[in-house]
Amino acid sequence: MPRKKNKKIIKRKKEAIKKKKAVSVKDKELRAIKNEKYVAHLLRGMRDILPADQTYWDFVNNRAKSIAAAYGFERIETPILEDYNLFERGTGMTSEVVEKQMYDFIDKGGEHVCCRPEGTPGAVRAYIEHGMFNLPQPIKFYYCGPMFRHEKPQAGRLRQLHQFGVEVVGSEKPIIDAQVIIFSRAFCENLGLDPVIEINSIGCPTCRKVYRRKLNEYFKFRRKQLCPDCQRRLETNPLRILDCKGKECQELSKKIPQIIDYLCPDCHNHLTRVLEYLDEAETPYELNHRIVRGLDYYTRTVFEVFVRRPKVESQLEPFLSSAEQEDLEETQGLKASPLAPTQEGPRLAIGGGGRYDNLVETLGGKPAPSCGMAFGLDRIIEELKIQNIKLPKVHGPQVFIAQLGDMARQKALKIFEVLRKDGFRVAENFSKDSLRAQLESAHRLGTKLCLIIGHQEVLNNTVIIRDMLSGSQEVVDQDKIAKELHKKI
Ligand code: AMP
Repeated sequence: MPRKKNKKIIKRKKEAIKKKKAVSVKDKELRAIKNEKYVAHLLRGMRDILPADQTYWDFVNNRAKSIAAAYGFERIETPILEDYNLFERGTGMTSEVVEKQMYDFIDKGGEHVCCRPEGTPGAVRAYIEHGMFNLPQPIKFYYCGPMFRHEKPQAGRLRQLHQFGVEVVGSEKPIIDAQVIIFSRAFCENLGLDPVIEINSIGCPTCRKVYRRKLNEYFKFRRKQLCPDCQRRLETNPLRILDCKGKECQELSKKIPQIIDYLCPDCHNHLTRVLEYLDEAETPYELNHRIVRGLDYYTRTVFEVFVRRPKVESQLEPFLSSAEQEDLEETQGLKASPLAPTQEGPRLAIGGGGRYDNLVETLGGKPAPSCGMAFGLDRIIEELKIQNIKLPKVHGPQVFIAQLGDMARQKALKIFEVLRKDGFRVAENFSKDSLRAQLESAHRLGTKLCLIIGHQEVLNNTVIIRDMLSGSQEVVDQDKIAKELHKKI
């Protein structure tokens, strides 16, 4: 896009944001005048991850970290807030993410910034800015964190989503694409999920130009059947039509010319080599010529990871009610080939990626062909729940400290600290007065032992050790607690 036009757009955006700001300030003042009662609420498309869900997040994050390390990826953390241009230039103006879903604003210093909608451009920016092209190539990153997309909230689509992604920057070799795909499969299997990987090649800018012309011809004759957005995409980037969720557009996309017939010899060779590597590594995949990925920077290999559900009946709440399921069928997540409902459930897109040979250069670096992928962790976790996948047992507290009376509570606070420092996993409920309520807490937590301290024990410098299963109790000196616990745990 010409710079002049770009500047105009930014100016218009700045003005719109200023207007919005003025309205919201007015709103605030009005509210203050009315002294309206404020009721806190979550923003649409956002959600809280509550303590009960943390075991899932810990499990998935830990598995992500260890499998990334096993494949030689090193962690990178980039800011959530970035320069808007990073995504406009990187992810691309014709991508839906940049065109419609950016959380962008002019900050107090007048800079056009945004909350990152995806991880790749930030990682590439860091690669360029920290001179990583001077290190032995390729550089292998992984990242985990929140991304922001102002999407229409619906099943499987959040406005704050979490992604785990890997990037291999600085190698054009097809073996890299193959290994990123193998890695994707390994991560899913490691979590207990059954992935289906669909692969395509969208060629290089040269052969894609030819294909785009063919696609344009194909859709031009069916223009009236396309949705208004896709009629526009026909002029800007007809490949984006293949990503459209509209039923008619999807129907039309089924009979498009196959890109593989238009690849130049180099791109064709690249795809063949990737597939040969996958075959050699006995990694199953499916070819799907309609996979194009929604971001502008991809070249050659693109792929999406779907997860197979064992049975349709097992798709229960909380993530996908039947209404949501219907809803989801209209979304990108379910655009995979139709499946017999009696054999297996529909496939949900949980990740995707591909090669991006020109992005580093587009963002101002020296040419460094690259390949990467990202998983949507929110969807993965919902999938683990839907499929009722059992997580490894997390070690809970070993001993509960119960107290009766003020002096005992004071003593219990100290004993808690001593035992914690000694390496015991200790639990308490110091806010409770009744022993019964505290023993109930201990039962709920499943601790094997409970220390009970009352007024008498404080005076005698002792505690009662209660075995929660048998109910047997023993009095021990306070300076021997650790020794006794070691014997009993
Ligand atoms: P993308 O960066 O669009 O290729 O997305 C990669 C993965 O992130 C998808 O396969 C989804 O699993 C996940 N994802 C993308 N957008 C959302 C969203 N709005 N809400 C939840 N997960 C998402």
